[in-house]
Amino acid sequence: MPHQGSYINGAWVTGAGKVQRNLNPADLAEVVAEFPTARSADALAAIAAAEAAWPMWKAVPAPERGRILARAAAIARTRLDEIATLLTREEGKILAEAKGEVIKGINCLDFCGGQGYRLGGKVLPSEAVDTAASTLRQPIGVAGIITPWNFPWSNPCWKIAPALVAGCTVVFKPASATPLTASCLVEILEEAGLPAGVLNMVVGSGAEVGETIVTHPATKVLSFTGSNPVGARLYESGARKLAKVTCEMGGKNALIVMPDADLERAVEGVIGGGFGSSGQRCTATSRLLVHVDVKARLLEMLVAATSALKVGNGLDPTSQMGPVVDQDQLHTDLSYIEIAKHEGLKLIAGGSMEASAGNGYFLRPTIFDGAKATHRLFQEEVFGPVLAVSEFTTYEEAIELANGVVFGLSSALYTQSLVTAQRFIQDIHAGMAHVNEPSIGGEAQLPFGGVGCTGVGDREMGEEGVNFFTQLKTVFINYARSGERSMCR
Ligand code: NAP
Repeated sequence: MPHQGSYINGAWVTGAGKVQRNLNPADLAEVVAEFPTARSADALAAIAAAEAAWPMWKAVPAPERGRILARAAAIARTRLDEIATLLTREEGKILAEAKGEVIKGINCLDFCGGQGYRLGGKVLPSEAVDTAASTLRQPIGVAGIITPWNFPWSNPCWKIAPALVAGCTVVFKPASATPLTASCLVEILEEAGLPAGVLNMVVGSGAEVGETIVTHPATKVLSFTGSNPVGARLYESGARKLAKVTCEMGGKNALIVMPDADLERAVEGVIGGGFGSSGQRCTATSRLLVHVDVKARLLEMLVAATSALKVGNGLDPTSQMGPVVDQDQLHTDLSYIEIAKHEGLKLIAGGSMEASAGNGYFLRPTIFDGAKATHRLFQEEVFGPVLAVSEFTTYEEAIELANGVVFGLSSALYTQSLVTAQRFIQDIHAGMAHVNEPSIGGEAQLPFGGVGCTGVGDREMGEEGVNFFTQLKTVFINYARSGERSMCR
């Protein structure tokens, strides 16, 4: 069992806030976490610790900072099964998906570890004679990192690892729903040799602890993943104090099926993208756009496959979809099912709870046909296993539908045509484009993020994700010998 509570200046502490009591979403009789949460004073102590540790941490050579991350990756590998099981009990996703998430986070620790050897600027020619010109990357300072519950291990990894290797110190607030999986990461980094004060985790409410971290003048770089209303507020607070900010927020990702698509693969893509992690991924397929010529056949196959999905406790290896995360999310999902019915969409699969799955937040994967661009189910993020189906007759119409929402995170196209695939890659308004594979997924070495109302600021992951936590200095060195004239710039 990992530590419960916060980790401030190298010590595990509990706060004076209200008692946090988290239940297993697949078994409401099981209390997964119970501890008093942190208050604003704890966040202030964490920020002070991070500020104090920064001069020491930024002076540690970047390859050595990276080696601590590489050691953390190795330790995490030895705890993979334990972390994944805890993640399933805390968040609900099935164990195979939880293991996949833990591995993705480990990859990120490994990748960022290696970046310690590559962190650097450029050498460029100068206009002036006898002048060396270059850029230097330096850490910004204390990073405020705020993460959501749906990727409670990998999302903290892909923010904290780049911040640390860049030389920033960190004040991290995990989502209130999933503090224990986050604790595992902190424990592992501590065991890997991270000095006290370099990483601080404060477990408390977004409204109090989150706001304190975001508004404090010392957190000069902020990285947030979560909902649009919270992200917009954070972006505003960051702008007020002129901090560097990245926010990754909601999605309404479309998967387009062209008439020449391999329909079996397309169905697999919709099931994996739409109902994997109970639809609670920012990159989840929540809109299926299908050509009229193949719609009847595709929906027949899709409804059969969806109805056959086994919903149950994620620790049961036969379960194919776990519960949704909590009562609030269940309420949101059920209310969108009612909204879709009232708007006249046709329910073709699911639409109700899975009673046989046990005492948890189990919802059947749900599909509505007949969605138009004016429907709320077409436009608004549900963040649950609820899919809206629309039809189209031309490629141009499909792209117009796909791009007709405010979000722009991910997208997928199924086709056998290279020409259509290339056009889609050019035309789709999204940060990620997948061809003949589901809309989900990201890799440590590749930048991840969205456009439009999904994302503001730099991309996460990859080299870009590390660079976000740095600022550039441009350097001129004039090496004219004394007595020679040097050019006045
Ligand atoms: P959320 O409610 O916005 O919460 C995200 C984080 O912000 C949590 O740690 C939350 O703390 C904290 N928070 C809440 N209010 C705050 C405030 N006033 N100041 C500072 N922090 C505050 O989002 P969620 O429900 O956890 O996550 C679901 C959303 O995340 C979806 O919209 C999904 O699309 C998005 N998401 C996006 C991506 C992406 O890469 N684009 C990836 C994953 C998820 P508490 O938990 O204590 O409330």
